[in-house]
Amino acid sequence: MIATQPYWLDGTAPMAAPLQGVVSADVVVIGAGVCGASAVWALSRAGVKTAWLEGRGVCTGASGRNAGFVLQGTAERYSRAVALTGRERARMVHQTSRENHAAMEAVIHELGIDCGYMKRGSLQLACSEAEEAELLESAALLCEDGFCSEIRQGSALEPVYREAGFRVGVHIADDGELDPARFVRGVARAAMDSGVALYEDSPVVSLDAPAPGDVVVRTAHGEVRAQIVLLCTNAWAGELAPWLADKVDPVRGQMLATAPVPPLFSCPVYADHGFDYWRQDEHGRIVLGGWRNLDPDGEKGTAEVLHAGIQARMGEFLERFPALRGVLVTHRWAGTMGFSRDGMPIVGAVPGLPGALAAVGFTGHGFGFAWLCGAALAELVLEGTSPVADRFRSRRFAS
Ligand SMILES: Cc1cc2nc3c(=O)[nH]c(=O)nc-3n(C[C@H](O)[C@H](O)[C@H](O)COP(=O)(O)OP(=O)(O)OC[C@H]3O[C@@H](n4cnc5c(N)ncnc54)[C@H](O)[C@@H]3O)c2cc1C
Repeated sequence: MIATQPYWLDGTAPMAAPLQGVVSADVVVIGAGVCGASAVWALSRAGVKTAWLEGRGVCTGASGRNAGFVLQGTAERYSRAVALTGRERARMVHQTSRENHAAMEAVIHELGIDCGYMKRGSLQLACSEAEEAELLESAALLCEDGFCSEIRQGSALEPVYREAGFRVGVHIADDGELDPARFVRGVARAAMDSGVALYEDSPVVSLDAPAPGDVVVRTAHGEVRAQIVLLCTNAWAGELAPWLADKVDPVRGQMLATAPVPPLFSCPVYADHGFDYWRQDEHGRIVLGGWRNLDPDGEKGTAEVLHAGIQARMGEFLERFPALRGVLVTHRWAGTMGFSRDGMPIVGAVPGLPGALAAVGFTGHGFGFAWLCGAALAELVLEGTSPVADRFRSRRFAS
């Protein structure tokens, strides 16, 4: 039988009970994915009394349903990012994602989180001549801007890819991968040990945040009164903050995992403009996702449902690798990403909710940005200012 829950969540147990009754805190954080975990961890280190509400369980949103890539850059290839945002902004955003990775790596080591973290770089593969040209242009621009990348074609491209029909790849040094659930749950455990009050199974049903110092967050069986609320709800952002509803779209992604196989892929792979991606984890399983472009309209919304056609195509893709023909698929699942209108995170004030701050809209690259953005929310609370928040100000959308 194939499991239809994320492989990463196999065997995980609840971490906390639901909210009951009235609780007071300095800060209330909504959403227990990578972003919320970063925010509560930073707050706990500063000794801030923090309540943390999650509608389901820790890391059951996109953070526990992804591929576990820790990549640099946005969903756009670097040449596209430069064309869309200009050279300076593209370089700064790219650099921010590298800082995000460094900060995650530091906390993994500091807390001793056993999450299968590896830093083997990543490989971008082209699926057409046009994409080959884009990859080569991106590689040149990356190198000019000081980001190491290496073109692999001909015999320099590993046989496993050539045999599957690929001709050109670019290896990006310094990228990483991990088990996202073990990472987020490890941070959550440390935050709880530092005094954060976590409540699972506690969907927030209403939010009053008319001013800092006057925040009430309600669930079915309780409420939290706090000075400020931090929204780390990514794809669901618009449900509690109407201003965000037309700025962050819920977009579904499909994933599968196979039984363990002998070593085949030496780092995470990103192909067809990032629509298709796969890697082999520390246990030898192939974790594969993507093909959303087969049905962009069908893959909208927050329902975490399998798409039969896309899942079938993913299975067919595995067959392109002789070593994977007939491999057992053990898990299939779906998850919901929050895509922002311009592909960049949205961090900071929420018009219409003066007592709230948000960090959302990670556009399929939350493990490239959300750790720093969650910490930026804590910095805004503590210092009133944050260099990372300044790079992704929500006010850029204000009319
Ligand atoms: C299939 C797939 C593959 C992906 N692959 C990668 C990858 O390899 N690398 C990468 O960088 N990114 C990847 N992403 C994107 C990445 O997973 C997200 O960008 C990231 O996890 C977002 O983290 P987050 O904490 O902002 O949101 P989430 O992890 O979605 O957390 C938000 C939480 O808020 C909770 N919530 C929402 N509303 C309420 C409410 N009213 N009350 C209480 N709780 C609420 C939700 O239950 C959820 O747990 C992928 C996403 C998907 C779906």
